Amino acid sequence: MSKLKIAELFYSIQGEGRYMGVPSVFLRTFGCNFKCAGFGMPRGEISIEADDIAYTHANIESFQKYEELPLVSTGCDSYASWHPAFKDLSPMLTSEAIADRIMEILPQDHWKDEHLVITGGEPLLGWQRAYPDLLDNPKMQGLKEITFETNGTQKLTEDFFNYLNGWSDGWGTRFDREITFSVSAKLPCSGEKWEEAILPEVVCEYEEVGTAYLKFVIATEQDFADVECAIAAYRKAGFKGHVYLMPVGGVESVYTLNNKNVALLAMKNGLRYSDRLQVPLFKNEWGT
Ligand code: SF4
Repeated sequence: MSKLKIAELFYSIQGEGRYMGVPSVFLRTFGCNFKCAGFGMPRGEISIEADDIAYTHANIESFQKYEELPLVSTGCDSYASWHPAFKDLSPMLTSEAIADRIMEILPQDHWKDEHLVITGGEPLLGWQRAYPDLLDNPKMQGLKEITFETNGTQKLTEDFFNYLNGWSDGWGTRFDREITFSVSAKLPCSGEKWEEAILPEVVCEYEEVGTAYLKFVIATEQDFADVECAIAAYRKAGFKGHVYLMPVGGVESVYTLNNKNVALLAMKNGLRYSDRLQVPLFKNEWGT
């Protein structure tokens, strides 16, 4: 039976993108290929908040669960889902144990109109091999819509591509679920390198097995200039999906500095705006 290293598993409202407002189970896998330490920092500088918590916090060993970890106002707001210092907070669970846990956190003990968000970290790293076991579990039968929240750098493995395409079991059974790839491609304001972060051909492949959209996290007009270059690169490669702008801001003080400006930028440029509803609703605390 497949296993997944799970950073968080919780029930909340999807706060971002296409499914904003939809009650959702969030499955956050452990591990990421990026650090995104540039978010919320002056351009060219990187945040050391996560490392500070990891290496200099007096009580690091007293953190027994995610809910006890501090929030950060710069860098990646889900830092504990990839930072090696916190790996012991993330257990390896079998697909059966995950399905059981999902049944426990769903309010009616079964799937109704909820949607599953597989997020990270970066959920399309090595974990692709484990998803078919989980998604084929009988307890997941009522689930109809799944979103992978990805940074758009990971190619689908041949097996997983075939699985999502519906022909992986050798019996020609159709995979009849709506699959969405919410691609938060990382611009230079994240601190990541363009050539490693903007990989249009990877995202175009997602469109072959589901709906994909781009969600750029920005704060300033300068960031928007990068968005335009990125959109041009994705369109040139054949990407057809929608584009969202979303404000930088994992904590309310930063989010409220940026949200209106980013909404106005989206309107001015004929793009979609994505909020981060989890910030005003739940202060973006762990488990929300
Ligand atoms: S890609 Fe996402 S999870 Fe990974 S470091 Fe960047 S913001 Fe965090």
